Amino acid sequence: MFICEMITCNEIEGFHHWPEAPSPVRFLASPHRHIFVIRCGWSVEHNDREKEIFIFQNLITEYLFSEFQIYQGQYAIDFGSYSCESIAENILNQFASLGMCWAEVLEDGKGGAKLQTSAKNGTGVSF
Ligand SMILES: [Zn+2]
Repeated sequence: MFICEMITCNEIEGFHHWPEAPSPVRFLASPHRHIFVIRCGWSVEHNDREKEIFIFQNLITEYLFSEFQIYQGQYAIDFGSYSCESIAENILNQFASLGMCWAEVLEDGKGGAKLQTSAKNGTGVSF
C-alpha cells in the first residue's frame, strides 16, 4: 500500500517587499524581483493520471494572475507585501478543496516556506 501525491511545479516571476524589514535586511523593504518556485502536493487515490499535472499547473498560474496585480505592465505578479508563507497560505486555501495538501513557495528556488493542510483531503490551513 502506498500513499501517492501528485506534485506540480510553477515558476512565477514576481515582485514583493517587506515594509517592516529590520536593518540587517532593510533592502527587502523595497520591491524586489524573484522567480517564485511554487511546488504543490495533491492527494490522489490511484496512480493513473487522476489529476493531470499540466492542467493543475495552469490552474495555479491562472489563479495567481487573477488574484494579484500585474507588476508595472510586465509579465510578473505584484505580490505586494506577501511573504512566501502568505503566498503559500493563499494558494493552499484556494485549492485545498481540490485536494491540494501542501504548498511550498521558494524565492529563486532557494529559501521559502512550506505549508500543509491539517487534513489529507484538504480543509484549509490552520495555524
Ligand atoms: Zn524577497
